[in-house]
Amino acid sequence: MQGNDEHAKARPNAIDAGVLERIKAVVGPKGYTMDPAEIAPHCQSWRDNWHGWVPMVVKPANVDEVAAVVAICAESGTPIVPQGGNTGLTGGGQPHAGGSEIIVSTSRMNKVREIDTLNNTMTVEAGCILADLQAAAADADRLFPLSLAAEGSCQIGGNLSTNAGGTQVLRYGNARNLVLGLEVVLPDGRVWQGLRGLRKDNTGYDLKQLFVGAEGTLGMITAAVLTLFPRPTEVQTALVAVPDPKAALSLLSRATETVGEQVTAFELIQRRAIDFVLRHIPDVSDPLAETYPWYVLMEISGQGAPDSLRTAVETILTEALEGEEVLDAVLAANQAQGQALWKIRESIPEAQNHEGHSVKHDVSVPLSRIAEFIERADLALAAVYPGVRGVAFGHIGDGNIHYNPAQPPDGDGAAFAAEYGAINRIVHDLITELNGSISAEHGLGRLRREEARRYKSSVEMDLMRTVKTALDPDNIMNPGKVV
Ligand SMILES: Cc1cc2nc3c(=O)[nH]c(=O)nc-3n(C[C@H](O)[C@H](O)[C@H](O)COP(=O)(O)OP(=O)(O)OC[C@H]3O[C@@H](n4cnc5c(N)ncnc54)[C@H](O)[C@@H]3O)c2cc1C
Repeated sequence: MQGNDEHAKARPNAIDAGVLERIKAVVGPKGYTMDPAEIAPHCQSWRDNWHGWVPMVVKPANVDEVAAVVAICAESGTPIVPQGGNTGLTGGGQPHAGGSEIIVSTSRMNKVREIDTLNNTMTVEAGCILADLQAAAADADRLFPLSLAAEGSCQIGGNLSTNAGGTQVLRYGNARNLVLGLEVVLPDGRVWQGLRGLRKDNTGYDLKQLFVGAEGTLGMITAAVLTLFPRPTEVQTALVAVPDPKAALSLLSRATETVGEQVTAFELIQRRAIDFVLRHIPDVSDPLAETYPWYVLMEISGQGAPDSLRTAVETILTEALEGEEVLDAVLAANQAQGQALWKIRESIPEAQNHEGHSVKHDVSVPLSRIAEFIERADLALAAVYPGVRGVAFGHIGDGNIHYNPAQPPDGDGAAFAAEYGAINRIVHDLITELNGSISAEHGLGRLRREEARRYKSSVEMDLMRTVKTALDPDNIMNPGKVV
């Protein structure tokens, strides 16, 4: 069972009024809300599976205000839930139900402080929306490559805190690979000023990487120096039908052998996921005349003259057709067609919400084990849950699959949802046997905290707890998440 909303309607406030008054004095009238209607959306997760309550959402305007608020919380033992765009998928940004925490939102800290086109960096505040940063980089004739379906509302502080992946990891890496420096408010209210735009800095531990992927449990990120790249001058996008995931991986090898790191995205899509999109999302059509069991959405981009990569892509597809790795393909003729193909991929999570209950997994395995994972997971689940619909899609180029089995179409949704733990056990045991990860890009939050304890070694858990205790001995920052 996920989530816990039993107290949400009671709107409890377990924080001393004097503490809240001190916070108000720091941030001023624009910097907080105690209005239940304004607080409610902050206390509910994107998938609506985590609910909680806080008496106050604080919205500081700058790092000094964050530091002062955190210092008050540290002194009074008031736990903080850092929050960005609230699009996280593991309950990490949701408060607990008792009203004893406050949310500190970065939404008012949304300035691009500097763009340095010679150093290829941009210094930004944590509350900048990812799509706005992509646009700011483009205005400076640069690329900020982090890209994911929630980019219109997620914030860079949240992206860094979850070490977000997305669709361009194959070429540019995770959020972790895109950050050169950070400014962080520590759990005692001190500010660590690490906003350095350096690609080489071997002066001891790489502290910034501690905070990336920490999901707000070690401090609040307030600003970051991000890496920029040259803008691709040409992008080729193809939807390719393949017989199975193994053939998809052969196509990936063929593509990278031909155009190297110009393969910027490589997404696997099971036919059933396309059916969901066609059924539930408006303005989407089936790009190929026939239907096939599996597809790959492939993007190849580079800095050459317009269409200079088209011949290479056509050659890859033709040779793959001859080698029977590929059954059919459509190569976008222009940007609009490319975007229409991406819309299919990016609409899958929303479309699946309309298909009744499903059990979501965000797993990774070495590329060489992906086909085996999907096949064995499908078989294992079908043996226990007749009629279950396997749904696999995601960033196959990074070994990351969103494996979200859906309830039988005419089955009992509540009964299927009750099998959440048992289905996790089947999938995560298999992932562990294949040397994979039970959370490839979404983090642990609350959703996978217990699962991590189960599958990580005691040494690894000890190391994580040691870091947490060293930085946050009083457990002020996002308690009950990750460790
Ligand atoms: C439709 C959809 C598609 C998605 N696709 C992808 C995908 O392809 N790849 C992927 O990796 N993820 C994906 N996600 C999940 C992803 O983690 C988030 O979208 C995003 O990275 C989180 O940013 P946010 O600002 O919404 O963070 P929030 O949800 O607000 O917070 C996430 C976590 O970070 C902490 N946090 C937030 N801001 C700070 C801060 N400034 N300092 C310290 N801690 C902080 C929170 O406490 C919480 O633990 C998707 C989500 C949705 C809804």
